Amino acid sequence: MSNHTGSYMLNEVIKSLKEIGIFNKLTRTDSRALLKAVFGVGYQYDCNPGEILEDIAEEFDVCYSCLTFDVPLRDGICQKCGRWESA
Ligand SMILES: [Zn+2]
Repeated sequence: MSNHTGSYMLNEVIKSLKEIGIFNKLTRTDSRALLKAVFGVGYQYDCNPGEILEDIAEEFDVCYSCLTFDVPLRDGICQKCGRWESA
């Protein structure tokens, strides 16, 4: 049973940080470090990465399932996790 409330709360926090432009002020490396820290908190509280990254996975180039950066995504999930065929 995962912590859906906590997952969506973290999702809202990331969206709020994005809205005020925090990620534009950070380097790519620091943005990813911040996201990884959020994923780490989510993991401790039994959150679901797919919910944490709902609607925003593609923006950050991260697969919502395996949390790998810089892989081609379709609907927020990489080819390996989503088992989709590449075009
Ligand atoms: Zn993946």
